[in-house]
Amino acid sequence: MVNKVVWQQLTDVFNSKGVTLVAVSKTKPAGDIKELYDLGQRHFGENYVQELMEKQATLPRDIHWHYIGHLQSNKVKDIAPFVHLIHAVDSFKLLVEINKQAMKNGRTIDVLLQMHIADEETKFGLDEKEIISLLDYYEAQKETLTNVRICGLMGMATFTDNHEKIRAEFAQLHNFFKFLAGTSFFGKDYFSICSMGMSADYEIAVAEGSNMVRIGSMLFGSR
Ligand SMILES: *Cc1c(COP(=O)(O)O)cnc(C)c1O
Repeated sequence: MVNKVVWQQLTDVFNSKGVTLVAVSKTKPAGDIKELYDLGQRHFGENYVQELMEKQATLPRDIHWHYIGHLQSNKVKDIAPFVHLIHAVDSFKLLVEINKQAMKNGRTIDVLLQMHIADEETKFGLDEKEIISLLDYYEAQKETLTNVRICGLMGMATFTDNHEKIRAEFAQLHNFFKFLAGTSFFGKDYFSICSMGMSADYEIAVAEGSNMVRIGSMLFGSR
């Protein structure tokens, strides 16, 4: 069940704050996506490659598809022709593969680096040192990595009721984002996206500086 009232309320708030709403439609049918599309929603997020390909083939061409899950290198070629933003790059190998597949498709693909901010062992992502060393590689190979652009960071907070803990984790991510935006890695205005916040914690995320939220269950119901 698509909650159109909630969509409108969120859209009004996010528009006023310059926050992009990515509607996370994973596991939900194409018909649900079309309902929000008809209201004006254009950014949708998926985290299974096969499911994303099937939906992309049947839904309107002007949807901006965000790949928000953990991406395996051998799957990049499947989404490279159309993906708008890959949120969770966590290795140099993956970055190289995205560049390669983007070239094959005559495109430039935008990506975010996933930063690990939560307690949980299971959440993917890089720590600050690992992000810096990935960016060092990126700098060193800039001439070959012409078709991939690192546009910012994404992260997920610990799944907890402790709001102060969530706030501290988002603050850490946003501080590091601001630091990177000011370094010589990026004198470029495309390093501008800080993707954090989901249904349970988006208010904290936006208060801490997020400018892209990924919201699923609030819009489409529980999975
Ligand atoms: C599923 C998912 C979301 C959305 O979660 P909700 O709690 O349904 O809003 C956001 N980000 C990522 C990476 C996800 O996998």
